[in-house]
Amino acid sequence: MKQTLKILIVDDNEVDRMAFRDALTKAGVQMELFEVSDGNDAFSALSTTAYDCVFFDYRLPDQHGLTFIQQLRSSKIKVPSVVLTAQGDEQITVQLIKAGATDYLSKSKISPEMLVQVLRSAIRIYWAETQAALVNQQLKESHEQLIHKNQELERQQQQIQMQNFKLLEVSQLKSHFLATMSHELRTPMNAIIGFSQILFRSKFGQLTYQQADMVERILNNGKHLLMLVNEVLDFSRLEAGRLDLKGEMFDISKVINLAVGEMRSLADAKNLSLLVQTDLQNTLVFNDPVRLKQILINLLSNAIKFTESGQIWVEVKELSASRVTIVVRDTGIGIAPRDFKCIFEAFRQIDQTITRKYPGTGLGLAIIDSLVRMMGGKIFLDSTLGSGSMFKIELPRQITLLSTEAADARDVQLDGDDIFSRAKNPHHSFFQTR
Ligand code: ADP
Repeated sequence: MKQTLKILIVDDNEVDRMAFRDALTKAGVQMELFEVSDGNDAFSALSTTAYDCVFFDYRLPDQHGLTFIQQLRSSKIKVPSVVLTAQGDEQITVQLIKAGATDYLSKSKISPEMLVQVLRSAIRIYWAETQAALVNQQLKESHEQLIHKNQELERQQQQIQMQNFKLLEVSQLKSHFLATMSHELRTPMNAIIGFSQILFRSKFGQLTYQQADMVERILNNGKHLLMLVNEVLDFSRLEAGRLDLKGEMFDISKVINLAVGEMRSLADAKNLSLLVQTDLQNTLVFNDPVRLKQILINLLSNAIKFTESGQIWVEVKELSASRVTIVVRDTGIGIAPRDFKCIFEAFRQIDQTITRKYPGTGLGLAIIDSLVRMMGGKIFLDSTLGSGSMFKIELPRQITLLSTEAADARDVQLDGDDIFSRAKNPHHSFFQTR
């Protein structure tokens, strides 16, 4: 308790006040005691002075103690209050405490010890209540803040969902555009290639050296353009989940030799030796030979493109009875470890400048990555800048194809589904992933 307490006693009974005063003095409480005899005077005193405790008789001449305590509460005067009661007033005491009185004391029990005890506990209870009210208020405020933040988060989440929705829509439009454009471009490209091949035939007359050179350029550029268009078409089909593997049993070494054979002239043109090593007990695999060849051609054309001198090796080995590995290794410019991940992303090239030395769409590895996943295989990359790169593909000897019913069901779903259901399954989980 603080040094000198300011105490107010409200009682119209002079004798009772005196007994109260005596008891407090005897208790040795250091205090300034103020006395008033009715509720109105008590209010005036409480409004002008801050008291440490008020003791009041609930039977005041001008108002009932219940009215007094209610007014005290509503007037926001903060003070611990003790009701002075008489014997047999228990019921009204309960009401007064409920209305906001801090404690009560029976006039018949007033003694120095009792007074000190009640005074102490009233001040303590009052402060505990005040603290609790403060904490409650703070909790209420934090709760309101949380609700506000929650609402803000919900709003942001809705915005993100909307943006996601728009992005998906744009991405779908892009895929659709790519698929349509590349499909449309293939027809004239095939005509250009076909007619330039026909021009070489002698039955249409002999071409001069210069004419033959020009037709050859048209043919080569046409083939190159068709390859680029095919890459874009494959990519957009893979993105839309519309590219299916066509499985059959074949000799893997034959497909590898075919791919290497097609790429040999390019390697020769750069004076690169192209070596193949097949180490297989059983050369038969169940896979899509066209797609497997496409993977090899892509890896080999990269190896040739990014190698200025040295060698390119293709190795095929048995990893286990059920898995085979194909390794394409070169002595080219190499790839920095920080770029390992991004080069498998669509349209990503290490050199993204317009003036870059090596041409390409940046789709090759993204397509390979998707195809290998569809085959239930894995790709590993190891490379050192300036020394060369190694792409290793592990494949199951027998791939699992999507059943016809599952493919049909997927096609129906892809035709009819909404953007959200597609977003939930962007990687077409019906294929085994890496
Ligand atoms: P593109 O070859 O059309 O650029 P790819 O997806 O096939 O696209 O390759 C992405 C990038 O990965 C290439 O642009 C190149 O930077 C890098 N890369 C791929 N293969 C090799 C390789 N054998 N050696 C060095 N860099 C390579």
